[in-house]
Amino acid sequence: MPQNCPYVSIVIPVFNEEENLPELLDRLGKAASGLGKPYEIIFINDGSRDNSLSILKEAALKDGHMVVVDFNRNYGQHAAVFAGFEASKGEIVVTLDADLQNPPEEIGKLVATMEQGYDVVGSVRQNRQDPLFRKIASKIINKVTSSVTGVQLSDYGCMLRAYRSSVVKTLCASKEISTFIPVLADMFAGRVTEVPVAHAERMKGESKYSVWKLVKLQFDLMTSFSLLPLRATMVIGFATSILAMAAAVVLIAGRLLFGPAWAVSGIFTLFSAVFFFMGVILFGLGLLGEYTGRIYQEVRRRPRYVIRQTVRSGEAEERR
Ligand code: UDP
Ligand code: MG
Repeated sequence: MPQNCPYVSIVIPVFNEEENLPELLDRLGKAASGLGKPYEIIFINDGSRDNSLSILKEAALKDGHMVVVDFNRNYGQHAAVFAGFEASKGEIVVTLDADLQNPPEEIGKLVATMEQGYDVVGSVRQNRQDPLFRKIASKIINKVTSSVTGVQLSDYGCMLRAYRSSVVKTLCASKEISTFIPVLADMFAGRVTEVPVAHAERMKGESKYSVWKLVKLQFDLMTSFSLLPLRATMVIGFATSILAMAAAVVLIAGRLLFGPAWAVSGIFTLFSAVFFFMGVILFGLGLLGEYTGRIYQEVRRRPRYVIRQTVRSGEAEERR
């Protein structure tokens, strides 16, 4: 029986997770019914190339709590979560990864904390089970992100989070293409808190984030939420100009005091200075290009994703 008015919506992006889905479905089903409240589970198939879609569809046709939103290709985790937000009907929306790194059993804790009147409840992974380089990278990213965006969160990467529907509505109304949901949500939320949650190793398969994808995500984060990089380039450019002027004074003084021989060897100093400026200029240009490119992307107002079909039990497949 389809649920008309769920209280909790659970949103899960799925990208090539066929090995994890059976256990996820099992544990999630138990955890969700254990909440004792009406719920729905929204899976977004983010262009998986394995069997994930058929596993999800089969589960959704059997269980009226489940909805499967199927993308026509891979648009990335955040786009997938957005699609889940758009489809969600619950007062409380919980996001979760499909690889069982976020135990579904912790959903109850998040919902209970939300009920104390918070708009967003984040979570901090205890004993995080990830490769060392990911942990160190996250430490740095968390620090930089808090200082750049001014949003104080201790664990941005953890997607096991709960949002009130009003915050979700505002998020859906933010039509920017490159974004990072935890930071965006916290900017709109009135009361935010964090709870500690368990973290497990990825059950099966590999992380869908390569180093390059992580760098891209961090770059998105820096440039979509802050103008600091642009300002930093300006400051660096200004400081180097001052230094260059000082160097010129030294060079001229050396030439006058020690004669032409000194100046000839000084030419190399000049070379290094010139190359340094070229670096600064190119860096600044690249950065400007990055922001301009982003403006171009945003003004086109392309949709974030394309949905091929939505599957619910008891309903014929909806096609768009
Ligand atoms: N994911 C997705 N689209 C992508 C990459 C990842 O929907 O392009 C999903 C993935 O299936 C998982 C979640 O996002 O449910 C987190 O991905 P992953 O576990 O690979 O990230 P990590 O835990 O390494 O940060
Ligand atoms: Mg993971």
